[in-house]
Amino acid sequence: MNKTSRAIFLDRDGTINVDDDSISNIDNWVFCDKAPEALKMLQDAGYKLIVITNQGGIDAGKYTLEDMQRVHAHMHAELAKSGVKLDAVAYCPHIDECECRKPKAGMLDQVRDLIADVDMSQSWMIGDKEADVGFGKKAKVQTALIPSRYWDKERLLIEPDLYVDSLYEFAQQITSK
Ligand SMILES: [Mg+2]
Ligand SMILES: [Zn+2]
Repeated sequence: MNKTSRAIFLDRDGTINVDDDSISNIDNWVFCDKAPEALKMLQDAGYKLIVITNQGGIDAGKYTLEDMQRVHAHMHAELAKSGVKLDAVAYCPHIDECECRKPKAGMLDQVRDLIADVDMSQSWMIGDKEADVGFGKKAKVQTALIPSRYWDKERLLIEPDLYVDSLYEFAQQITSK
């Protein structure tokens, strides 16, 4: 198949929504500044939007799969108000050894059909943890890292291709090229 599509792989917590440790209730859902606008810009630029999220809180018993699904339904509904349609939301519910928890790239298996025509070299992963960068490297996409309490530049073992202050700044940079 010709690889004519491009995709943005997106971390969820701390990238799309404000990271509130473990969001199990839609009342705690707050978008990062201008995140819906950013996603709309990327969608309009022709990128598939694929969320790749570690939700180990499920196996840890902090919240249930149904809680997460309610949160995702809320995310989809709120984004729809901005004209955004996410192409897929892949998640890893595990905390122990598994093949899908970022920085591993096993979550790609959940979106195999969707990425069959995606040129990974023209695609990106954006997140707020080093594990997101690690995922991106394994997926062979370009990587962007957002500031968070989880990393500092001196201690990074894997360097992203791009540092940006937010998903919105990322969208501005990517779509102005
Ligand atoms: Mg995150
Ligand atoms: Zn997993």
